[in-house]
Amino acid sequence: MSIVVVGSIGYDTVETQHGRIADALGGSASFFSVAARFFAPVSMVAVVGEDFKSDDVKFFTDRNVDIRGLVHEKGETFRWHGRYHEDMNQRDTLHLALNVFADFSPDLLPDQRRADYLFLANISPQLQSRVLSQMTNPKVVAADTMDHWINTERAALIKMLAKVDILTLNDQEAKLLAQEHNLVKAGRAILKMGPKTVLVKRGEYGVLLFSPESMFAVPAYPLEEVIDPTGAGDTFAGGFMGFIARSGKVSEPVLRKAVVYGSVMGSFVVERFSLDRLSDLSWETIDARYRAFVELTDSQHTKWNSQ
Ligand code: AMP
Repeated sequence: MSIVVVGSIGYDTVETQHGRIADALGGSASFFSVAARFFAPVSMVAVVGEDFKSDDVKFFTDRNVDIRGLVHEKGETFRWHGRYHEDMNQRDTLHLALNVFADFSPDLLPDQRRADYLFLANISPQLQSRVLSQMTNPKVVAADTMDHWINTERAALIKMLAKVDILTLNDQEAKLLAQEHNLVKAGRAILKMGPKTVLVKRGEYGVLLFSPESMFAVPAYPLEEVIDPTGAGDTFAGGFMGFIARSGKVSEPVLRKAVVYGSVMGSFVVERFSLDRLSDLSWETIDARYRAFVELTDSQHTKWNSQ
């Protein structure tokens, strides 16, 4: 039930209404791993440069993330600098330096190839396909993508989509990929491209799940203060895939519960900068918010049923 994740690890500089943080540990694989490991063993596949701090390696090992697939290359680690608008659903990338990530072409370890669960974080569709082709017989393959790949590598992306079970992307990206203004029509159109489940992330408005048989919506957990939304999508994916791996199967009830656990994990990460909030989270705190989430969304909740 181990999950393999392939994605970025980098140092993020982030500016929001609440302040600025420079060169903080980030990247899609980081957020995903630290969230998913609450549910199931995680093995990461990523690349860092010579400047990657040993404390940051320890950050992962202290949290039982398997880092045998973390490659150290000559050169500098990936860097991203983003600034959020007052409306935190909007952000601008001020600077992006791929550095060692530019030539990343991983060779999975023999046991990683045999893993049941694979998450292809937001990397080029060609690279996603290359990784996927190394897998022996995965039970569930999920992938993330972004507007950049939809615009520049549409053909490779569509080819890759035929081979994945689950796709996660945001609402603008779903409309762009499907070339459709209506989100429901877009979700349905993407299902026809291959994935059996499409998860549309809508920031503070929550997540919409599309499958051929159904549609399921959850809100984002309402928070008084969002400090830094960076990594919310990858953290959501970590909770989502983590719960599926822990369940050991994919069914409609498992998918629905996984969406709620993903949303719970996403609601924590945005409460502080970088990976700060995830770093000292306990299972009891996750479970308490899961129960609060259920109470928030269930109009028939037993707590109020007797009144
Ligand atoms: P999210 O907020 O879920 O989109 O994830 C943000 C994380 O993705 C940050 O930690 C960045 O370091 C990382 N990131 C930003 N741009 C890219 C990119 N082009 N390729 C890979 N990772 C990226």
